[in-house]
Amino acid sequence: MRKPVIAGNWKMNMTPEEGVVLVEGIWDLVSGQEQAEVVVCPPFVDIPAVSESIRTKSMEIGLGAQNMYWEETGAFTGEVSPSMLLKLNVTHVIIGHSERRQFFGESDQGVNRKVKSAIDHGIVPIMCVGESLKQREAGEMQDVVTSQVKCGLFELEERETDSIIIAYEPIWAIGTGVAATVTDAEEAISLVRKTVGDVLGTDAAEIIRILYGGSVKPENISEFISTDNVDGALVGGASLKPESFAGIVRFS
Ligand code: PEP
Repeated sequence: MRKPVIAGNWKMNMTPEEGVVLVEGIWDLVSGQEQAEVVVCPPFVDIPAVSESIRTKSMEIGLGAQNMYWEETGAFTGEVSPSMLLKLNVTHVIIGHSERRQFFGESDQGVNRKVKSAIDHGIVPIMCVGESLKQREAGEMQDVVTSQVKCGLFELEERETDSIIIAYEPIWAIGTGVAATVTDAEEAISLVRKTVGDVLGTDAAEIIRILYGGSVKPENISEFISTDNVDGALVGGASLKPESFAGIVRFS
């Protein structure tokens, strides 16, 4: 039985003060619920304040970063290491979000190094994959998604599967208000699960949690969750208000 995960990607929104108000507002509405694991992913500069708020109020909320570098220390201007994140009680990290691939040139190889480094440090990577509209219209969804999953999981071992989450996020559905149909999401996510099986074995495919991301809101989450293969959601816009994010957690 795979427990659903609802993870909020705040992207480049919220000051530290606003982040604390947001996480506390979310906790007011979701404390006591047990059907889903809840994770918030604030910008780096918000993490100390949000982390402290989670700790002092004993919130059962995971804390995710939106990116990290794979090295420990050194001359990597602008980067943040896994051990720095661990010091702030970070539990999860989004790796290879399409905005990072698109605007910051992240490659599949870089994603793989980050995934491995996160696992080695005991941080759960939420590895994002997904095709663009152009690729989908050209009939390339299967090839793109399979290749991103295979490259991202390269040289991982089966025992590491419970320490990784994959998010299928079709780029054309992110921030557009137009979610994928449940049929399209289920088709892509079952392909992701099959590919995990090919790379890491059938047990791994059974265990790994795979999320859908792209214009998820309280009104559509239950359709996604009711499918066989969707184990939760990575949520952007709707994670910025306690009511909408909590609505997604409650309907999951
Ligand atoms: C995202 O950025 O990961 C995302 C899914 O955004 P939105 O929910 O706004 O489409």
